[in-house]
Amino acid sequence: MTTKHHQANQTTEDARWQAVVTRDDTADGTFVYAVHTTGIYCRPSCAARLARSENINFYTSPHEAEAAGFRACKRCKPNQTNLTASHTEKVASACRLLETSEIIPSLEDLAKNVGLSKYHFQRLFKRITGVTPKAYAQAYRTQKLREQLSEDDSVTNAIYAAGYNTQSRFYAESNKVLGMTASEFRKGGANTVIKFALGECSLGTILVAQSERGVCAIQLGDDPTLLLQELEGRFPNAELIGADRDFEKTVAQIVGFVETPTQDLNLPLDIRGTAFQQRVWQALTGIPLGTTASYSEIAQRIGAPKSFRAVAMACGANNLAVVIPCHRVVRNDGNLSGYRWGVERKKILLSNEKFLSKNELNEP
Ligand SMILES: [Zn+2]
Repeated sequence: MTTKHHQANQTTEDARWQAVVTRDDTADGTFVYAVHTTGIYCRPSCAARLARSENINFYTSPHEAEAAGFRACKRCKPNQTNLTASHTEKVASACRLLETSEIIPSLEDLAKNVGLSKYHFQRLFKRITGVTPKAYAQAYRTQKLREQLSEDDSVTNAIYAAGYNTQSRFYAESNKVLGMTASEFRKGGANTVIKFALGECSLGTILVAQSERGVCAIQLGDDPTLLLQELEGRFPNAELIGADRDFEKTVAQIVGFVETPTQDLNLPLDIRGTAFQQRVWQALTGIPLGTTASYSEIAQRIGAPKSFRAVAMACGANNLAVVIPCHRVVRNDGNLSGYRWGVERKKILLSNEKFLSKNELNEP
């Protein structure tokens, strides 16, 4: 009696028992169960009357069950037709549907197409692919898009080829999917090596990165991991490597500049942005240390007096903290406004610069 109870508990606690109870055909091919009292083994979905749990043993294959002395059930033929293959075929055909449909098909439609119930289809799909149909469709489109973007010249072509039926829909999704817009992605550092280093400065953690062209990122933050993730997001195709000796020197120079932005920084910069952004950033470097300018003033200086909002956005898109002094841009009323790396850092930078510029003036 105790062994019987023990056996029954072992069976009912086994996740496979649930598949037998529900006659889950998506579990077919993953195991068989054998019934001691009859000497027969079945596939999970067998329509035969359910045996008592204490009389059941699970085997991973028909071969194992037969080696243990059981015979195949004549009803469900667990040793014959290769159900795993037919399941795989069904899932594969669902995958093709997910890949080729402009709009991701519903679970019901997919299941109907391959002749399974919605419940079984979803379980089977997840078991074979490891993801839900929806996640599969999204991952497929993302991957397709990445491939297309690196092969294809036109972003628009890539969008259509990846199965996004309208451009606006693509752009709505692309930030989520790629972590950046499509045209930025094209410049996403394919075939380039980017050196990076993380360090500490008075403003917190600093990440410095350099491409073949020059310094391409100076970012400030509290969490080194987040800074690195952001860099990876910006250059998904690049090979990111840790710093070498030469680069350490560059990093030291930049950290020195961030702490004391009075000296000249003669380093090549790799500035990536739209023509408008570059005009704004150029204008920012013209704001003298210890002073500020408003967004409107910058807009006037670049000859686009109405574009102060776009100027503010370009400031927010700056990737070279302090070196491109977007912290010197404030609201028209002198209010500090925002800062890409936190308004606290902006405050510290500005008061530090005020102090430095006074001291410089007082020098003989
Ligand atoms: Zn059977």
